[in-house]
Amino acid sequence: MKKVVKFGGSSLADAKQFKKVADIIRADKDRKFVVPSAPGKRFDGDTKVTDMLIALYEKAAKGEDIHEDMLEVKKRYDEIIEGLELKNFSLETEFFEIETNLKKAPNLDYAASRGEYLNGRIMAEYLDYEFVDPKDTIFFNEEGHLNSYKTEKTMKERLTKAGNAVIPGFYGMGKDGKIKTFSRGGSDVTGSIVAGALQADVYENWTDVSGFLVADPRIIKNPVGIKTITYRELRELSYMGASVLHEDAIFPVRSAGIPINIKNTNAPEDEGTWIVESTGQKPEYTITGIAGKKGFCAVLVTKSLMNSEIGFGRKVLQAFEESNISFEHMPSGIDTMTVVVHEDEFLDKEQQVVSTIHRLAQPDAVEIDTDLALIAVVGRGMRSTRGTAGRIFSALSHARVNVRMIDQGSSELNIIIGVENKDFETAVKAIYDIFVETQVK
Ligand code: ASP
Repeated sequence: MKKVVKFGGSSLADAKQFKKVADIIRADKDRKFVVPSAPGKRFDGDTKVTDMLIALYEKAAKGEDIHEDMLEVKKRYDEIIEGLELKNFSLETEFFEIETNLKKAPNLDYAASRGEYLNGRIMAEYLDYEFVDPKDTIFFNEEGHLNSYKTEKTMKERLTKAGNAVIPGFYGMGKDGKIKTFSRGGSDVTGSIVAGALQADVYENWTDVSGFLVADPRIIKNPVGIKTITYRELRELSYMGASVLHEDAIFPVRSAGIPINIKNTNAPEDEGTWIVESTGQKPEYTITGIAGKKGFCAVLVTKSLMNSEIGFGRKVLQAFEESNISFEHMPSGIDTMTVVVHEDEFLDKEQQVVSTIHRLAQPDAVEIDTDLALIAVVGRGMRSTRGTAGRIFSALSHARVNVRMIDQGSSELNIIIGVENKDFETAVKAIYDIFVETQVK
């Protein structure tokens, strides 16, 4: 068995966390390939090393002195090195080199990536694993996208030779020969690339929560966890704001048929959440998860006999396209179609869009409805269960929530409900209660 294990910033924030991580790795000899993030927050209000490095770059770019700030970063690593009692190991030379490089030619991606690089060096030393620098194994093309072919081939060769290795997350080599990072949270992507290249049996992603929760814990107190979720369900929930994993981390493992297991460094015995392509496992509840967001706007376009006018929908959507606005949903009625957009993208351009709709599609009326929140109730179990929609709407009506919009995709994987922003939390609670709290298992 081959396991690729990625540890997030909070799992590696200090020496105590590092020790937990090492125990986890040593507990299973299949955990051969380790992808660390940079040290994260040790307590509420603390600063992540990546953020310290970005601030440091900004100073360097303005020509300000960075020596003191560099020492602050170094202190974080020195404390880890001391706490782990790594006697003959130091990062003096590395810090000298990083400071010199940043003074000479400040580069944002280079600066940001050093958090992972330095953590990887410590981790490799502590575990006695080989250090494999992603600057030699992860490549971007001219457009700044991952060069998957070259990356997979090189990574596979390099890691097969190494046997056991630590590969820092978050960065690789740009086409211009300079270090390039993924977007924030990108160590997840590195882990996925490594797992995909090696055809690993599982990609374990270790963080500080025991996997995905059925609902947002800021709205529901102690929500239950999700045991198994499919990639498609995850996509629906992440789109609606549930976030544990970087979006780009799905593709490399999904295309190789590798499951992801989200695990908790602080509670390693918890099973966590399995993210899989497909599963015969029945979900525990009819629904897999609930997620939602506020701040949407519905543009209601009415025209009598719209249903028989060929090309009407295209013309309406063209108006949004011309203003460079992407639409989120589009429920339609007999003589109406509604285009749901993000309020912050739309409001500045609303008059432009409305006049373009009039010009192109000659509707009877265009109305704009603001302060809309969308809630997605997602679950592969809905397809085979009768009455799901009925239960949702009766729960909402009992909670006195007025439903403003409904959209059920034909995949029957989710039902999207639009409510007023002010009813958002009440609605999520009502749906959670009806499916989870009062569910007879
Ligand atoms: N350290 C980087 C960040 O803070 C990448 C990561 O943690 O995944 O965004």
